[in-house]
Amino acid sequence: MVDLTERQARIIEIVKKSGPISGEDIASQLKLSRAALRPHLSVLTMSGHLAARPRVGYYYTGKTENSLITKALRKIKVKEVKAIPVVVKEDTSVYDAAVSLILEDTGTIFVVGEDGYLAGVVSRKDFLKSCIGGTSTSQMPVGFIMTRMPNIITTESDEDVLEAAKKIMEYQVDSLPVVRQVKDGKLKIIGRFTKTSITRLMTELGGEM
Ligand code: ADP
Repeated sequence: MVDLTERQARIIEIVKKSGPISGEDIASQLKLSRAALRPHLSVLTMSGHLAARPRVGYYYTGKTENSLITKALRKIKVKEVKAIPVVVKEDTSVYDAAVSLILEDTGTIFVVGEDGYLAGVVSRKDFLKSCIGGTSTSQMPVGFIMTRMPNIITTESDEDVLEAAKKIMEYQVDSLPVVRQVKDGKLKIIGRFTKTSITRLMTELGGEM
C-alpha cells in the first residue's frame, strides 16, 4: 500500500467532501501555497487516489490501494524475477571475490560461512574501501570487509516484488539475497533480487522487451 502522509490524507478528505475542487481551493483550505501543494497532488494522482480534469478540478476516484499498478505488483512474487546469486565462502580472499564480481558481472556478492549458510554481503563500495585500506587484497579474507549477519536485509521467494522493492528503497541497498529459512534461523541463499530485477520487470510490464 502507498503510505500517505498526514497532509495527503487530509487532502483526500477535502476532495472527498468538496470535489470536484480546484487546486487553488484545496490550497486555501489547507492554508498552503499552490507550490507546496503541487507535489502532494502529483503523488495522489499518480497513486490513483485522485484524478484531475481540466477546468473541473480534482475528484476522488474511490480507488485506494487497488490502483492498477499496485495490484499488478502485488501479484508478482520475488521468485518470478529473481536472478542467480553469486556466492563465495567467507575465507575467500578479497582479491578472488573481486575477480568473481567482475567475471560474473554483478554488483554484489553474497558470502556463506563454513556451514554454507548466509554470512554476509559485499558490495562494490566495500571492495573499494578495502583497496584504500592498505592491506593486500590477496591476504585479506572477504569476511573481513563484508556486512555481516544479522544485519542483512533479505527477501523470500513468496514475498511480493513491491515489498521487496520497498526494502531496497528503505535500506538504500542495491540487492537483497533471496533466502529460505532452515533450522536454527539459518538462511539458505536461493537467489538475488536487485535494482536490475525491478528495472527489467518495469520494462517487461511496459511491453518493451
Ligand atoms: P554500493 O557499494 O554500490 O553502494 P550498496 O548500496 O548495495 O552498494 O551497499 C552499500 C552498503 O550496504 C555496503 O556496505 C554493503 O555491504 C551493504 N549492503 C548491501 N546489500 C545489503 C543487504 N541486502 N543487507 C544489508 N547490507 C547490505
